[in-house]
Amino acid sequence: MKTLPLLTELTGVSAFSTCAGFNICTYAGGDRDMADADLRQLERLTGIDRSNMRFPVQTHTAEVRLADRPLDGVDGVVCTAPGMLIGVHTADCLPLLMADVKAGVTAAVHCGWRGTADGIAANAVELMVSAGADTCHIVAAMGPCICADCFEVGEEVACRFPDAAVIRRPGAKPHVDLYRAVAMQLEAAGIRAITPPPACTMTDPRFYSVRRQGRSLTMRTLSAITLSL
Ligand SMILES: [Zn+2]
Repeated sequence: MKTLPLLTELTGVSAFSTCAGFNICTYAGGDRDMADADLRQLERLTGIDRSNMRFPVQTHTAEVRLADRPLDGVDGVVCTAPGMLIGVHTADCLPLLMADVKAGVTAAVHCGWRGTADGIAANAVELMVSAGADTCHIVAAMGPCICADCFEVGEEVACRFPDAAVIRRPGAKPHVDLYRAVAMQLEAAGIRAITPPPACTMTDPRFYSVRRQGRSLTMRTLSAITLSL
């Protein structure tokens, strides 16, 4: 399996996005045998057993929960258990990974447009802090997502975002800058160490994109984080 490392300069944390050809997401229709084989690959790569991995069943909410709670219908997970890996599935939406290595708190958050408009990044920071993290020590890295140039939306979507995260040109539909929208929530929460997305999913075939590959796409990029490596 190929992966793109994120947060590489940080010791004590391993964070990465997987490249196309790998899929462990089954609730979007992904093949169960492929998911099982790829989960085995992920176990080999990380040295972590699947019983110590948590992936929410995402539904475009703004809800974030601790990793030891039921994760059906939530879009972010916060973890304090050493040696546990958490991750989110995306294919254009913005995967946000965060860590306070000192406090031993990590987060993996699926920032789609709905969740972002409803403040999911801010919710994730709040839950990290209540789990013992300090915003001064939190570092945030974003995985590959659709860039502002590619993310054309309707006015009903654009109006849910702050002006600074919307690009308007005369005679054209608005574009939403998911990176800016998420970064604004993190900055407002006091986080300064923010690494922007390394690639645009729409134009970079290394990553899955619903906009490029169509709504019937069943595979998702995994962005995951663990403090154990
Ligand atoms: Zn793009």
